[in-house]
Amino acid sequence: MTVTPITLNDGHTIPQLGFGVFRVDPDDTQRIVSDALEVGYRHIDTAAIYGNEVGVGAAIAASGIPRDELFVTTKLYNTDQGTESAFDAMDLSLQKLGLDYVDLYLIHWPVPKRDVFVESWRALEKLAADGRARSIGVSNFLVPHLKRLLAETDTVPAVNQIELHPYHQQPAVTTFGAEHGIATEAWGPLGQGKYPLLELPEIVAIAAARGKTPAQVVLRWHIQQGHIVFPKSNNRDRIRENFAIFDFELAADEQAFITALERQGRVGGDPNEVE
Ligand code: NAD
Repeated sequence: MTVTPITLNDGHTIPQLGFGVFRVDPDDTQRIVSDALEVGYRHIDTAAIYGNEVGVGAAIAASGIPRDELFVTTKLYNTDQGTESAFDAMDLSLQKLGLDYVDLYLIHWPVPKRDVFVESWRALEKLAADGRARSIGVSNFLVPHLKRLLAETDTVPAVNQIELHPYHQQPAVTTFGAEHGIATEAWGPLGQGKYPLLELPEIVAIAAARGKTPAQVVLRWHIQQGHIVFPKSNNRDRIRENFAIFDFELAADEQAFITALERQGRVGGDPNEVE
């Protein structure tokens, strides 16, 4: 299975499909990430606040996979926003991951009420300049937050990682991103299992007609929308299933049916409120 690479606005490439480790227990992380690497995933999405960077690093070290074949993302947590605190947080993440650099470093949430995200972004620019992060981006940024970075700093984020699934597609944010060369990463691609998305009769029927599962159909919808996606699962069979989405295609009407499910049904926090 070949995962499509996406070229970011800084010239680096990212595998369009990766493996996310939100809510993966730190004690299980090495085993589960090792399973994902064995299946073929080469892109891992973690964050300092997930508490499992050590396990991600241990799986990478044990895999023997050359560093330049892997793409590792981690994130600067809200309480570490600022200049020196961002540098320290990056160093701690690198130490836990056992890496010299990450492929992508993100500001996890904008926390607009504290209003430190522009300063934090300038710190990430320095981390990119000194090589600790190959690419830099943001997460959970809405259009006004992105506009401030574009107006007040020199670097356009390479990605914006936002909650995005058929029930919550954030078209204003993705359109703004597309207009400014900011790639969209979709977190919670399956709606974190909080909606009956995978039981919808139409999605079940599309899957059955292809010999695929409803989860594979929804992930395939993301791929055809151009999103970068990293579904999470602790289950080896599902980890394998979620990787097998590059050998079929959805027809235009099937893609349109899923797009029409939009209902502004957020499952996570409101980016203006999360502190
Ligand atoms: P997800 O939509 O990937 O849902 C994961 C859940 O879906 C699993 O726990 C499992 O219950 C179910 N699932 C997975 N594969 C399945 C399958 N094949 N069939 C049926 N059910 C299946 O949600 P997520 O984990 O929140 O999002 C993916 C990744 O996005 C995270 O692991 C993390 O890396 C990232 N993330 C980022 C943020 C952020 O604020 N930047 C927030 C949440 C998640």
